[in-house]
Amino acid sequence: MGRIRYDFTGEVAVVTGAASGIGRAVLDALAAAGAHTHGFDLQAPPLGPEARGSRSCAPRWHAVDVRSTSSVERGVAAVMAAEGQVDLVVNNAGIARDAVLWKLRDPEWQEVLETNLSGAWRVLRAVVPHMRQRSRGRIVQIASINGLRGRFGQANYSASKAGLIGLTRTAARELGPRGITVNAVAPGLIETSMASALSSGHRQRAVDETATGRLGTVDDVAAAVLFLLSDDAAHITGDVLRVDGGQSC
Ligand code: NAD
Repeated sequence: MGRIRYDFTGEVAVVTGAASGIGRAVLDALAAAGAHTHGFDLQAPPLGPEARGSRSCAPRWHAVDVRSTSSVERGVAAVMAAEGQVDLVVNNAGIARDAVLWKLRDPEWQEVLETNLSGAWRVLRAVVPHMRQRSRGRIVQIASINGLRGRFGQANYSASKAGLIGLTRTAARELGPRGITVNAVAPGLIETSMASALSSGHRQRAVDETATGRLGTVDDVAAAVLFLLSDDAAHITGDVLRVDGGQSC
């Protein structure tokens, strides 16, 4: 991100799927803004991400598979043992396994739903009791514009992201009375390994759909996430912020 706009000093953040792409950019931006950051991913990256900015704190890594309840609970317990609190959570871990719905096999359906939707719920279930105790917390879920609209070949992915938006809205209602906000960010196509797996034709069609004439960057998404995690967004909850350059407008 260009400038540090927020100060998260003293706050403890957990970001899932933090080893690459959007999650890594969010983790770096939070560390640069002074948060104590904890990355959950299948495995830690070979070299920890370079935290940018003079106020940065080195992220700590936890091998967590969000498809497993015991793995998520171990990760959250390790953060609580180290920090005694969790203030900020970004549910970002996600995968795509594309196929037209009549060719989708059970494993591709289940793996996507287990990771993108059930994984986020498992993390919420583990962290929310700690947030409720302190009547404080900010949660952002990384959805997708394809959870707001359909996309050819993405029945499993679109369903998981639409479900994540439903989870977000219910969590906002259940946790709002305790001062905890829950929002979703819905990116359009963003330049990450997920996007580089697409054909050049698919990428060009996505660019053509945008109003801004370009794909998004991980920093575009991180900027929106940090806003929703900040106290500037204290009265925003249950909302979905699209970061798509007008791709779905
Ligand atoms: P990415 O593949 O670069 O990063 C995803 C990360 O999640 C990886 O580090 C991976 O190891 C981790 N992960 C996967 N399964 C996991 C599991 N079971 N437990 C823990 N970690 C796991 O992808 P990205 O493009 O940065 O995507 C991040 C999020 O943004 C995803 O939820 C994705 O659906 C969403 N998104 C991406 C785009 C895009 O165009 N890149 C667009 C809209 C939404």
